[in-house]
Amino acid sequence: MKCEHCTRKECSKKTKTDDQENASVDVPSPAQENGEKGEFHKLADAKIFLSDCLACDSCVSAEEGIQVSQQNAKDFFQVLNLNKKCDTSKHRVLAVSVCPQSLPYFAAKFSLSVTDASRRLCGFLKSLGVHYVFDTTIAADFSILESQKEFVRRFRQHNEEEPALPMLTSACPGWVRYAERVLGHPVTPHLCTAKSPQQIMGSLVKDYFARRQNLSPDKIFHVIVAPCYDKKLEALQEDVLTASRGSRGTDCVLTSGEIAQMMEQSDVSVREAALDTLFGDVKEEELRRHDGAGSDGYLAHIFRHAAKELFNEDVGEVTYRALRNKDFQEVTLEKSGEVLLRFAAAYGFRNIQNVVLKLKKGKFPYHFVEVLACAGGCLNGRGQAQTTDGRTDKALLQKMKGIYADIPVQLPEASTHVQELYQEWLDGTDSPRVQEALHTAYQGPGQPADSRDIKW
Ligand code: SF4
Repeated sequence: MKCEHCTRKECSKKTKTDDQENASVDVPSPAQENGEKGEFHKLADAKIFLSDCLACDSCVSAEEGIQVSQQNAKDFFQVLNLNKKCDTSKHRVLAVSVCPQSLPYFAAKFSLSVTDASRRLCGFLKSLGVHYVFDTTIAADFSILESQKEFVRRFRQHNEEEPALPMLTSACPGWVRYAERVLGHPVTPHLCTAKSPQQIMGSLVKDYFARRQNLSPDKIFHVIVAPCYDKKLEALQEDVLTASRGSRGTDCVLTSGEIAQMMEQSDVSVREAALDTLFGDVKEEELRRHDGAGSDGYLAHIFRHAAKELFNEDVGEVTYRALRNKDFQEVTLEKSGEVLLRFAAAYGFRNIQNVVLKLKKGKFPYHFVEVLACAGGCLNGRGQAQTTDGRTDKALLQKMKGIYADIPVQLPEASTHVQELYQEWLDGTDSPRVQEALHTAYQGPGQPADSRDIKW
């Protein structure tokens, strides 16, 4: 079936089943060319699962498909091997940043506590020759803090003539790509401009950390370990801050499944090691996560912040109400029978389509929506917890949810490192450098629609 949004001849809309809302695009991979086969549901075939791009493969151009396929274990080992050669001009510092939604996968898969899993993973990567292993939670802190500020600003600016609401989250690259490449106006103006944790981690490593280490950004090879393939696509997007210095924020994304496969197939002896921090002398700190089960907790943190800032209301526990299904939930702040804030979490293809439909119809009751491409959220990313036939390993996922829920929660405001970085790295919390390092702009297909046609 042809996709209505796509102009490319070869594009075809993917068929979705009830159980599997995901479509895939085949891209050539070096592994394929060499006839190698991996065990992790054919990950070596480098398929991009568009749980994600949601509608059709117009989200991925042929050129991008090739670039995505080049982000694989072979690419990573090539850098490791060059580091072992005598020609030091080709040596690069290898830094790996791990997403918090990946760690529960390693813990559940290897039956370890999440702390032991992070030490095993870190020890494994270092035994291969990786120099630094970071946790991306600090980047999510920045992303949430900037999203909170933006929501409050939009709420105050919002009016019928120039609607600034709803604000839609921008941390999920599958969703953002779909919004940009397929939906365009009038959806893109509602995407939060805060960069995703992956993009911010790229700036932290290639800008802040590089300066600290007195290295040029291109001397660092930065790898992200992530729960999904969509982050490989995201890595292709140029980052203004680091691109101006001749280097992408993230050079390669490997999924948790790809790394687990390497661990299983490796015979290197592993000594457990603590995670590094960006601050040299400061060693591993206790693992922590953000509030909320499905993502980095944008909805819960922004809701509490907005309730306090806009209405001076302290919200303790955030109460979710499932509406159509467990992946479409609502959270409201009410006072004297009046709804002050109405937020929603919409995960997975069907729920996103409903949100988009409502937006297009012009009747949208929400101030804010946390949008994630994967049903169930990031723990259910297609790059981890999959069975050999490419379906979610439900038992493993259940274990991962329990492990994730047990990680202590910390407010992004509570991180002293983040507050210091605002001053030391970004010249304050409201500087041009904050805009450059922590915010982005979106493009969309087609002509901008008159936003007054839509009544939010
Ligand atoms: S929901 Fe999370 S895991 Fe799924 S595509 Fe988006 S960022 Fe990746």
